[in-house]
Amino acid sequence: MPTRRARSLPPVRAVRAVLLLALAPAAAGTPVTTGTNGTAPQAAPDERPNIVFVFSDDHAPHAIGAYARDEAQPYGRWLAGVDATPNLDRLAAQGVRFRRSFCTNSICGPSRAVVLTGKHSHANGFMNNGNRFDGDQPTFPKLLRAAGYRTAMIGKWHLGSDPQGFDHWEVLPGQGQYYNPVLVSAEGRREVEGHCTDVVTDLSIEWLEQQKDSDRPFLLMCQHKAPHRTWMPALRHLELWADEALPEPPTLLDDHADDAPGARRQEMTIRDHLDLFYDLFVTPQAGDAVGTGSSLDASGWRNLERMTAEQRAAWDAHWGPRNAAFRAAEPEGDDLVRWKQQRYLKNYLRCVRGVDESVGRILDWLEANGLAENTVVVYSSDQGFYLGDHGWYDKRWMYEESLAMPLIVRWPGRAAAGAVDDHLVQNLDYAPTFLELAGVPVPEDVQGRSLVPLLEGRAPDDWRDAIYYHYYEYPSVHMVPRHVGIRTERWKLIHYYPFDEWELFDLERDPDELRNLFGDPDHAEVAAHLAVRLGRLQEAYGDDTVTGTVPEWIEAYR
Ligand code: CA
Repeated sequence: MPTRRARSLPPVRAVRAVLLLALAPAAAGTPVTTGTNGTAPQAAPDERPNIVFVFSDDHAPHAIGAYARDEAQPYGRWLAGVDATPNLDRLAAQGVRFRRSFCTNSICGPSRAVVLTGKHSHANGFMNNGNRFDGDQPTFPKLLRAAGYRTAMIGKWHLGSDPQGFDHWEVLPGQGQYYNPVLVSAEGRREVEGHCTDVVTDLSIEWLEQQKDSDRPFLLMCQHKAPHRTWMPALRHLELWADEALPEPPTLLDDHADDAPGARRQEMTIRDHLDLFYDLFVTPQAGDAVGTGSSLDASGWRNLERMTAEQRAAWDAHWGPRNAAFRAAEPEGDDLVRWKQQRYLKNYLRCVRGVDESVGRILDWLEANGLAENTVVVYSSDQGFYLGDHGWYDKRWMYEESLAMPLIVRWPGRAAAGAVDDHLVQNLDYAPTFLELAGVPVPEDVQGRSLVPLLEGRAPDDWRDAIYYHYYEYPSVHMVPRHVGIRTERWKLIHYYPFDEWELFDLERDPDELRNLFGDPDHAEVAAHLAVRLGRLQEAYGDDTVTGTVPEWIEAYR
């Protein structure tokens, strides 16, 4: 028996009327109408859509088939032949996929804070992973809850403070663990056996089950740890691509000769920084330099130690013979880089497959329970990631692979199935989008814009023509310098302000960002105009956290 929200979607005009009603001051509960024949007021059905937001960690768009196979995808096409995401591809075929979707600060905690608040890092106060999120500030889950939504947050939170704004929350402490994870809720801590992605999905579906007969719409935030370092897949996925070679990125052996010096000082190369033991599960033997890397996050070793005897036996049975083969082959130099990239990419994509299965299970559940029609499903991840591109792993940079976020939205009857949107959008826009979907007014100090008009195919003429970016965490793991930048449809200008170093890329002619045009006389005017616009964006967003003075060459163009 289908539930209340299971009926087919009413005509658009009727939905708008309900949305307008929901915008009225009395919208905090179920909308109420007066009976047409003078009878007593009765509750009108609450037609506001449910929202399911599946958010993963470090999932690069080009590790989704729908992105990698897109001929207009500007980078990452080298992964087009790999089929890691059948369910996300299904979601993309049924919804809108944003091709120019970006973060404002490419790192986990800060991206999450931007998603919750609709404000840049300097405005929400969470600039580095070491910060603690001020949970007392307004967030979209709080506003949805106040407007009558049932709200839940399950999985990776990573903001230091306890979640606020949820009827139910159960989160991984810190980075969380891949196997048999500990979960924390208002009631305390517990450990649940299984792979983290499966556990978070089980708990999410458990909560969805409880909403079936509710007369209120719901917001579910299902947030995965995967595919975050140290890429530990579920046991059933270890055999994926086990005995085949995956493609390698054309920039795997990039020497960074053309980058600003800041980019050459980083510590995130597969060659020198991705650790054989910690990241790639080679069993150490006598004489190995284990645990000496400056960037090792001890949670990786703890994840291995958490396995049950049975899990560990299956894990070791997979890696044992492969590690023996590695020891026998003793690859060196570029061959070792290639070997490391293969093992890294396979484990990364196996973790992605786990997330993809989670999405599939949730889509199936919505379908089976008659809720698919009136539920908006959003898939995204906190930033992009390097999968060997430019010889790197990790994120942080304003270069495309780490700046990009996957963003796929399915909204049956309202957003065109299989559409691709090319507007410049950011995680800044998620909060106002969720608010508009729920008919809740967007607070004036929110800096993002609702994507609802784009989803409905009626893009405003004044949509933004440039995005603003600011990365702070330096000096820190991976040693990516602080930088600010502007990206337009065609150009990208980056300023590593602690060193006053600049980069300019023509994304149309150089999508892999291999030719820094800054300092080239033919591009001096473009650079200057972008620098002025960068300054204007900084002013408009109220970002006064950039240090240093404005170089004279920019002043001349103001
Ligand atoms: Ca992340």
